[in-house]
Parts: sequence; structure tokens; C-alpha cells
Amino acid sequence: MRKKLLLGNWKMNKTPAEAKAFALSASEMVEYAVAHNIDVGVAPTFVCLQTVKENINPKCIVSAQNCNEHDHGAYTGEVSIPMLKAVGIDWVILGHSERREYNGETSKACNAKIKALLANEMTPVYCCGESLETFEAGKTKEFVEEQIKTGLADLTKEDAEKVVIAYEPIWAIGTGKSASKEIAEDTIAFIRGVLREMFGEVAEKIRILYGGSVKPVNVAEYMSAPDIDGALVGGASLEPDSFKALIEGIANSK
Ligand code: PEP
Repeated sequence: MRKKLLLGNWKMNKTPAEAKAFALSASEMVEYAVAHNIDVGVAPTFVCLQTVKENINPKCIVSAQNCNEHDHGAYTGEVSIPMLKAVGIDWVILGHSERREYNGETSKACNAKIKALLANEMTPVYCCGESLETFEAGKTKEFVEEQIKTGLADLTKEDAEKVVIAYEPIWAIGTGKSASKEIAEDTIAFIRGVLREMFGEVAEKIRILYGGSVKPVNVAEYMSAPDIDGALVGGASLEPDSFKALIEGIANSK
């Protein structure tokens, strides 16, 4: 049985003071999640990681939204894995569609970052998902298959087991237009099939999240689908009340 995971992607939101206030208010909801066997985490911006890590319930995962695969050097504007580790961070989101669109992040670049994270005993959350155009052309599956095969290329079974996947159709991110439970489950079950082809039975242990306009009102529905192991949530993860309602929705979906 895969443990459910709720991960809040704060994107480019919150000052350190705002992030700290959220962290300080989250203690009880994190305990509630733990008591209901749910992993819970937030992904602040780089400048907020340390303050969130220092002020949030230690049972809460704190994730970065990106990293560089090199340890140090002439990479202006980048943040390395040892730097993240030094402030206690061991999870990193990679390949989010916004980074693919605005920063030219490719599945191949994600592959190098995933390998570097795994070599450092950290957890990559690898995002995939198609555009509206690809969805409407009926090409979702071949598109995400390529993203998965390239992003996870050459991983051992032992390493693949440690990766978290997030399926996020781009047309559902921040649009209020969520994919139906059936579409999400169908694509996620397909992704699990691709993982089975690549890594065998280990695929049954890999958590695959759905992301795209998940809200307190619809989270339980997604969680009732057999292959959906949690949610990567943007907008609805920003306020403590809404984040708490998401946790409650997952707890009540069981
Ligand atoms: C996201 O940022 O990964 C996301 C799914 O955003 P939203 O929940 O706002 O659609």
C-alpha cells in the first residue's frame, strides 16, 4: 500500500516572513496528517527554505522547487544540492511545466538532476504532463511516456523506487479546470505501466501524484482512484486553512 502524499508547491509566492508565519501555524495540521498516515510537505522558494525548515513541524517535508546538478562552480543564479542539504532540504521538485516553459528545462536535464539527487540520498519529485494542444490531439500518453523514459533513463530499480512522479496536465495547472478523476487515473495508470516496463515490480511502489487545480472540494475524489497516490497542489496550498482542508479531504477519502 503506497502512502498518500500531499505536496504544496508555493511557486514564486511568499516573503520569508510570510513563509515563516505559515510554518509556525502548521504544527497541528502536520500532526493530523501524520496521524492519518499521510505524508505532507511544502515547497517554498529558495530564499524561504531555511526559515520554513527551521520553523515548521519537523515531520513536514520541505522541498525545493529546483536544483542544479553540479556541486559548485560558474552557474550564476543556480543553487546546488550540497547547498540545499546544508539547510536540511532533501526533497526537490523537478521538471515542473512552468520551469519547462519559462526556463527551458528538458527531460534530459531533469535526468541529470534526478541522478545527482539520488546519489545524495535525496528525493526527486519529477513532473510530467501535456499541453492542451497535445491533449486535444489525443497524444497525451505518447507525450508523457517520452518524458518518463527520458527523465528516468538509466536509473537502477533501487533508485527508481525512491522517485516520486507528479502527473500535471498543463491545461489544468492554475486554470481552475481540473482533469476529471477518470482522465487523471487513466493517465496515471498508464504512467505506472511505463514504469513497470522500465523497472518491473518496483513500479507498484513508486508514488504518482496528480496535480492541476486540486482544491479542498475535489481532492477526496482524486484520492479514491487506485493509482493516484497524492496531490501536488499550487494555489490551494498557499493558505493554512486551505492546506488543512486538503489534508482533511485526503484523510476522509480513505
Ligand atoms: C502546481 O503548481 O503544480 C499546480 C498544480 O498548481 P495549481 O494547483 O494551482 O493548479
